[in-house]
Amino acid sequence: MSIWVYPGSFDPITLGHENIIERGARLCDTLYVAVLDNPNKSPLFSTDEKIELIKKCTSHIPNVVVECFNGLLVDYVKDINANVILRGIRNVGDYEYEQNMSVLNKKLNENADTVFICADPEFRCISSSSVKEIAMLGGDFSGLVNENIFNEINNQITRRK
Ligand code: ADP
Repeated sequence: MSIWVYPGSFDPITLGHENIIERGARLCDTLYVAVLDNPNKSPLFSTDEKIELIKKCTSHIPNVVVECFNGLLVDYVKDINANVILRGIRNVGDYEYEQNMSVLNKKLNENADTVFICADPEFRCISSSSVKEIAMLGGDFSGLVNENIFNEINNQITRRK
């Protein structure tokens, strides 16, 4: 039984994240999409809202479970009996950061190996922060997120303005 975890901030989930989730879910029995619940950050969406948005974008994938975690990722990995941490790589910057994190996580939990999936070219330029920035400035971000959550992001941005 292979249980993988795809952790992240997902503030909000983008088409890039969705692509990694779809591809990762094909490689394991169960993929946990795990939203980091970090009270020190001030995200656009609350953890519960992020979870709802992710569920709306992944309801077509049967082996995906969406939940939140706090504390150390390696402890969460142990709690759910996962054997792989999944991360997406868009560019060299992501790679440098991620390979360091993967070595650290392996040191903290020798059963926690990280698997990287390279972003498909059309998703390489997408990040949650660029979605927020474009939305905040009134730009069209419809090609960057799932159409099911476009209005919710717009509404949240309007509320925050
Ligand atoms: P974090 O704050 O932990 O970086 P993110 O929510 O920004 O969390 O991203 C979670 C994971 O998804 C990271 O591995 C990140 O590199 C990856 N990711 C983010 N955007 C994309 C994208 N457009 N294509 C592929 N992977 C992505």
